[in-house]
Amino acid sequence: MSDGTREPRQVSAIKGAKDILPGEARVWQRVEALARSHFELYGFREIRTPVFEATELFQKGTGETSDIVIKEMYTFTDKGGRSLTLRPEYTPSVARAVIEHRLYLQPEPLRFYFMGPMFRYDKPQKGRYRQFHQADVEVFGENDPAVDAELVELADSLLARLRVKGILILVNSVGCSKCRPGYIRELRRSAETSRDKLCPDCRRKIDTNPLRIFDCKVESCLLIAEAFPKITDYLCPECAEHFGRFRGYLDDYGIRYRVEPKLVRGIDYYTKTTFEFVMTHASQQNAVLGGGRYDNLVQQFGGPDLGAIGFALGLERLLSVAGLDEVQEKFLYMAFLGDEPKRKAMALARFFRNHGVECLLEFKDKGLKAQMGRAAKVGASWVLIVGEDEIRKGRYSLKDMASGEQGEGTEEELLSRIMAGSRGHS
Ligand code: AMP
Repeated sequence: MSDGTREPRQVSAIKGAKDILPGEARVWQRVEALARSHFELYGFREIRTPVFEATELFQKGTGETSDIVIKEMYTFTDKGGRSLTLRPEYTPSVARAVIEHRLYLQPEPLRFYFMGPMFRYDKPQKGRYRQFHQADVEVFGENDPAVDAELVELADSLLARLRVKGILILVNSVGCSKCRPGYIRELRRSAETSRDKLCPDCRRKIDTNPLRIFDCKVESCLLIAEAFPKITDYLCPECAEHFGRFRGYLDDYGIRYRVEPKLVRGIDYYTKTTFEFVMTHASQQNAVLGGGRYDNLVQQFGGPDLGAIGFALGLERLLSVAGLDEVQEKFLYMAFLGDEPKRKAMALARFFRNHGVECLLEFKDKGLKAQMGRAAKVGASWVLIVGEDEIRKGRYSLKDMASGEQGEGTEEELLSRIMAGSRGHS
């Protein structure tokens, strides 16, 4: 400032990174709890890995030709001179942990889930953030296409439990190291004929990995790509059989899907099955979840020959379409006046909380009437009034805010009244 005094400067959250405020966090907790219990129904157990990893993990895993590695990683050098990256996706971390802890030698099934933040330096817009959250599910060591179908069914039933409507399931096979090179050659040849019309990024992709052209977000490139050869026409007998059986199991489940040969999923490690759940009513950022098989990644990371498959569900996008019932919060507001009642209220709150009743005390020296007003404003279910008379009698008055009824009793009597009320209307 010109007069030399310093104004406190407000520091805001970083663009593309959002605060999740308490009202919203409540909804997050419910969705996360439901997702957790759903994953556990299928035998998945939680695994937690660090938020940052050695940069080479993603370079080797997610892949040198993926947009994530080329443009979107939050990479920094730590004080020890090591290049670290905030995880842009979860699969490489889980694969690393499976190998590092030799989890494949243990009897437990290699079925893992995880929930947490991911980081990508992408252009922030609705549905696309730089810090976002995923629920992630991975299975290792099972090559049967029935697992591929089971994962799609798991995702489908989770979204149904969350009352998500208007979802289209896209499936594809991206082949394997035997059949994909032949397809890539054909794709490159075809893309070469349209080189001048493609964006500079896609022109580069013709040379590095033409498969990545399908990930381009430029409309005109996607239109051109419509005419490119389809990978499903180039699958080797093993991949074609896997894809056929996968689809057969989906039919057995009665799950409807569409085969989308352009679904290559932006990441280099996929083999055979890929799938995505998209919202039919959104034109952009319409994918809620995506995943696929990655049979070579564990070996590529120096581990044993373990096939694997997984998917990641975007929680911000899921929350934007989930249909959850309202839940009424139930809590007791403690109103008190004076020092002794305050101390008694603190002791009573300890008693009620020990019995699982949520209590709110506010230490703002307000009159009883003002406290009753606050209780109504913050949506308390009951108000307990603690005054000197009540302390003397050992009986307190409790007001039910919904019915307006007021009664009195000892703390034990009031506790059973509150418990009965908690079980009743919700
Ligand atoms: P991906 O592996 O990139 O397909 O990501 C899996 C899911 O995570 C997507 O289907 C989205 O729901 C979600 N997702 C990916 N990137 C972002 C982002 N930048 N912001 C919000 N959600 C994202």
